[in-house]
Amino acid sequence: MKIHEYQAKELFRAHDILVPDSEVARDPDHARRIAETLGSPVVIKAQVHAGGRGKGGGVQVVDSAAAAEQAARNILGMELVTEQTAGMGKTVNQVLVERAVAIDRELYCSLLVNRDTATITILVSSDGGMNIEEVAAATPERIVSVDVNPLLGLQGFQLRALAAVLALSGDTGKKFSAMMRRLYRFFVDYDCSMVEINPLVVTDQGELIAIDAKVDIDGNSLYRHPDVAAMRDPLEEDPHERKAAEFDLNYIKLSGNIGNMVNGAGLAMATMDIIKQAGAEPANFLDVGGGASAARVEQGFRIILDDPHVKGILINIFGGILRCDELARGVVQAATAVGLSVPVVVRMEGTNVEEGRRILADSGLNLINAEDIGDAARKVAEIA
Ligand code: GDP
Ligand code: MN
Repeated sequence: MKIHEYQAKELFRAHDILVPDSEVARDPDHARRIAETLGSPVVIKAQVHAGGRGKGGGVQVVDSAAAAEQAARNILGMELVTEQTAGMGKTVNQVLVERAVAIDRELYCSLLVNRDTATITILVSSDGGMNIEEVAAATPERIVSVDVNPLLGLQGFQLRALAAVLALSGDTGKKFSAMMRRLYRFFVDYDCSMVEINPLVVTDQGELIAIDAKVDIDGNSLYRHPDVAAMRDPLEEDPHERKAAEFDLNYIKLSGNIGNMVNGAGLAMATMDIIKQAGAEPANFLDVGGGASAARVEQGFRIILDDPHVKGILINIFGGILRCDELARGVVQAATAVGLSVPVVVRMEGTNVEEGRRILADSGLNLINAEDIGDAARKVAEIA
């Protein structure tokens, strides 16, 4: 689960990782009052779950409280488009008002769970800041990584290597090591999958301050981090995925035009393969679970059909716990309630399959029985 920059910075503060003084505002007037308290200059920063805000106009440095109010007015409510928002805008509902820092150098630092090496990998670069993507593309050798064995923890020699890459020595080097130890501990204690500080700045006084903060925490660990669970922002989530979660449906939106509804995650994966093999692209992943009721099937239909790209739907259900006749009745009921606008190919197998097929065929709806998986693939390909 992603959290906002201001929330990540609250966690950093609590773990003695230096961040500038700041407070979050939801209206321009509040932004001005915060700026008055902090003293100018301040930075006004859009709070959305996406990076690249600076280049998108979501970060402004201003030198008075009045200018802070104006910048907040401009940024709040804007549809912020950045390199990380997939061409769409993200509505800005909050801004962080932060005391500006006099920057000497901008460094890059991140920690992530590296599945390839089964380590926590730390990445650093002395070319931090808004152009890190270009650095990664053009001069990848300028980003250096260190793999930390989670059983051994972060070692002194690794810290010295990282400090050397960043040309941090003396007192600043010591501060860097101490900060990285705290950051590593934070990463482990909070079950993070990714922490990124870009830029990590060196000030004129040789202090190290996290100017930006991105934290991604393993959603499966939230039960032991109630403080983080409370930071969830539903407005940042895909509305369909949020709706699906309410009904306990495991839904992930994809970019194709064949919707699919399946019971069981493994069968859902196989079904997406079948759709691809048929030359079509799945519009979603949707696992309705083992004991799918008519109500859940109906919700599944509604969510799939809400996607304007969907041209057809493939239902692939193995009737074990849920008998095929019950499923068929659920499908007919749901399709009638929702008002089906696209053809639905149904492949089912299992208990009472004959009766199930008869119910579908007699429904008078645009429900197409498939004999088996291969037949389902052919019928889906025709629709696509
Ligand atoms: P991002 O573009 O979403 O990654 O947002 P950042 O928080 O990283 O801010 C973008 C850029 O704004 C940084 O790389 C800095 O160059 C600049 N910036 C942010 N805060 C400050 C600050 O306190 N002082 C100064 N001088 N520049 C800042
Ligand atoms: Mn940044």
